[in-house]
Amino acid sequence: MSSSIRLNKLCKRYGEVDVLRGIDLEIPAGQTVSIIGPSGSGKSTLLRLLMTLDRPTSGTIEIDGESMWTQPDGSPASSAHVRKVRGKIGMVFQHFNLFPHMTALGNVIEAPIHVGGLSRDEAVERGRHYLDLVGLADKQDVHPAQLSGGQKQRVGIARALAMRPEIMLFDEVTSALDPELVGGILQIVKDLADKREMTMILVTHQMKFAERSCDRTLFFDEGNVVEDAPSEELFSNPKEPRTQQFLQAVI
Ligand code: ADP
Ligand code: MG
Repeated sequence: MSSSIRLNKLCKRYGEVDVLRGIDLEIPAGQTVSIIGPSGSGKSTLLRLLMTLDRPTSGTIEIDGESMWTQPDGSPASSAHVRKVRGKIGMVFQHFNLFPHMTALGNVIEAPIHVGGLSRDEAVERGRHYLDLVGLADKQDVHPAQLSGGQKQRVGIARALAMRPEIMLFDEVTSALDPELVGGILQIVKDLADKREMTMILVTHQMKFAERSCDRTLFFDEGNVVEDAPSEELFSNPKEPRTQQFLQAVI
């Protein structure tokens, strides 16, 4: 199951700074979208708003046509409603954000037990399944400190998948990895995208990956979507001067 996403005039301001300046965006269920753009352009902020880690200053986020923060009559949504919408979304972070005192399996089963209401046995069975899926079947009892960066990120992906999200958000998930570990993580992401079971948004600096493996790419600059096109088109024939400059500088 995957969910559609719709943003209407989404704005986020921190103090005096307009970080997102009225984003309008529709992502159909099952699509894989990459977001590229300079540092500080608001890419992570957008993912954090989608993950309900922060609230918009104005504008709306709709998941499957349901507004995240407001009820149909415009009044504020209940916390139960926000939790329900958030439950459809999983996120993987650049710096893994694992619980250091828990094993790999402990990290993966935490939310299914405490948020999802699974029994410990059910969560362990599910957790083993997803650790196996990311190639870590033999590391379930190991703590994060004993894992390589690539292995930590595999745990991060398994942990998000274990909540069976309909939408997965990946924020520069290979940026903290040694170069030889990047390919393995991208392969996992590509395999997930190819299944089309989830809607996926990836903030990435891996331009070849965005071009080859994502249906669509957004170029972000200064809190706006400057260009939005099928990935092949955006990379081979960028229309906006700012996109052209950015791609020339990074490729
Ligand atoms: P990107 O991911 O594209 O590099 P971010 O979304 O992290 O950009 O940040 C965009 C801008 O918002 C930056 O100028 C950053 O300093 C600012 N910003 C992000 N989060 C916060 C916050 N919690 N408080 C204040 N400013 C923030
Ligand atoms: Mg960022």
